[in-house]
Formats: sequence, C-alpha cells, structure tokens
Amino acid sequence: MIEQAILEITAELSHAKNIVIVPHKGPDGDAMGSSLGLMHFLKDKGHSVDVIAPNDYPKFLKWLPGNDDVIIYEKDKTKAENMINQADLVFALDFNHLNRSGDMQEILTASQAVFIMIDHHREPSDFANYTYSDAQMSSTCEMVYHFIDKLRAVEKITPEIATCLYAGIMTDTGSFRFSATSAETHRVIAQLIDKGAVNHDIHNKIFDTFNENRLQLLGTALQNLRVKPEFKTAFISLSQEELDRHNFQKGDTEGFVNYGLSLEGVIFAVIFIENKQEEIIKISFRSKGDFNVNEFARAHFEGGGHNNAAGGKSDLSLENTLVKFNSILPDYKELQQ
Ligand code: 5GP
Ligand code: MN
Repeated sequence: MIEQAILEITAELSHAKNIVIVPHKGPDGDAMGSSLGLMHFLKDKGHSVDVIAPNDYPKFLKWLPGNDDVIIYEKDKTKAENMINQADLVFALDFNHLNRSGDMQEILTASQAVFIMIDHHREPSDFANYTYSDAQMSSTCEMVYHFIDKLRAVEKITPEIATCLYAGIMTDTGSFRFSATSAETHRVIAQLIDKGAVNHDIHNKIFDTFNENRLQLLGTALQNLRVKPEFKTAFISLSQEELDRHNFQKGDTEGFVNYGLSLEGVIFAVIFIENKQEEIIKISFRSKGDFNVNEFARAHFEGGGHNNAAGGKSDLSLENTLVKFNSILPDYKELQQ
C-alpha cells in the first residue's frame, strides 16, 4: 500500500467514524480473525465498528474475542443494512471481488461509503477506494498486522487483537506449513505472542474441540478417498446422506481435503461436498508445488483462490461432477510428468 494511501487513510481515521467490516461468505479463520482483530483495533481508537459476516461460520471460531458482537447478514438483514447505510467506511477483508460477499453484494455495491480492501487472493477487482492486495502474503491477518504497522500503531496491539490475528495466520498457513509461510510471517507471529497471543491455547481451541460425530465423518470421508496415481491426484466425496448420518455441523469437513496431499506422490487433492439445500456441490482444491488450483477452479468450477488452495462449485449432481472432474484431469500435462 503506497504511502499516500496510508496518509489518506490516517486522515480518514483521525476522527470518529461509523465503520463496517465485512469478511467473505463462508468465513474461515483468516476472515474472522482479521475482521475481529481489526474491529478491536478500530474500537480502541474510538470508532463505532460492526463486523457483518455474510453467513454463519463454524463453532470452532466462535470463541474468538469479540465474537458475540458479530452480525450475521443472513439472520439479521434489516439491522445489517441499516449499519451499511450509515457507514462512512467499509473494510472488505480476505476477499478480492464483491461477489464473494454473497447476498451482501447488492447493498455493498449501492453503498456510498469509502471502501478499503485488505486481501491476499490473486487477481483483485478494483471495487475499493483503497486496495491493499498482496498475493505473496500468508493471510489477511498477517496483512492486518502490517496495516497496523504502517499506521505506526503496533504498540496498540492488545492481547485480543493478537489472539485474533494469530488464529487467522495459523489457520490459513495450515499451522505454519504452507509455502506462503515466510520468515516474515514467523516474525509477525513472534510479535503477536509477545503481545499476548497464547499459542497453545489458540491451537487447542481451534483444532482440539471436535465431537465424535466429526471423527466418524472423517472416517467416511477417508473410506471414500480415491487415488489416481497416474494424475498424482486424490479426491474425496461426501454425499448429503453421509453428512446427515454423522449429524454434520458447519466446519466439520474443514481440513479433510488435506489428507489427500499426505499421500506420497500426490500433488493435487480435492473434496466434493454435496449441499442439497443450496443444490450445489461445494468443492475445495489443494495442491503442492507449481500446479495452480486457482486457475483450475476458475476454468472449470466457477471458483478461484490461491495457487495452492482454492474453492469452487458445481451445479451438476455429485455423480456427474465426479465424471466431469475425471474427464478434465487428462488435459493437465503437469499432473502426468
Ligand atoms: P476453501 O476450499 O477452504 O473453501 O477455500 C480455499 C481458498 O479459496 C480460500 O482462500 C477461499 O477464500 C477461496 N475460495 C473458496 N471458494 C471460492 C469460490 O467459490 N470463489 C473464489 N473466487 N474463491 C474461493
Ligand atoms: Mn485468507
């Protein structure tokens, strides 16, 4: 973000404002961590701040400091729309295109507020007045730390802010193992621990608070795993009936896709999850090395994301989605060398 933009944003924030923070639809740890971390920072500066999530998010994120103040657009449309209409400033966090805000897209498009986007996805669209976009960054939470640093306010980071930002960096980097995890990421993490983030406690609250149903669902997912060594690919599918059988709750399938990548030789892992209510198959793509799943998701499954982690969807049945997927694989020479 250029110095001039920082000066202008500093001026914007020099007196009390009504601020709305919006994470992407289907908020993950990075989206909620960055939104709540920034919320605490801006509230401490004296602003009136509301986080409005397009829809609900998993239970394992609901302990984050400030969670109880989050408004879910799908559940509280009128209240959310009033807040957006009164907002002077809107922060768009962890997404690169307004369509990632789901049903909020229309009201956000109509809003007269000044928009600031902070995001690490590739190919950002230019809907915001100020765009801080860096696809090299591990996470939006790491960028929020740098944003606070650019505002020369690192000393204002409280334990609440540190906890939120740590949680998002940890989840988006797969606990500091994905390739976007840099030495700088670790320096930021060290700072956050110094500022009061209790690393083992955050890890425990996010990864070790599941119930038995979720482990049984993982068992079913792993039984459904199919490996295609000739394409260095592994994929999992879960039908609505299988989800129902294990009393599926939002967030239960988080991380399942990564099991495919733990197989030797596999560089492309995918999970297909049937959602009968929305009549779509939600898909997650993960890769190792140069195989670009952002392009794959964009080209075939109306999605996108990062080089090594992306999402998408299919309107076909689960069975036909798998047929389509299997028919595309031979087109990718990178998977066959
Ligand atoms: P996940 O597979 O965990 O849902 O998402 C992986 C990454 O891809 C995340 O950074 C997420 O924001 C992005 N992503 C997931 N679904 C979509 C989608 O439908 N469209 C786009 N553009 N990005 C997505
Ligand atoms: Mn992210």
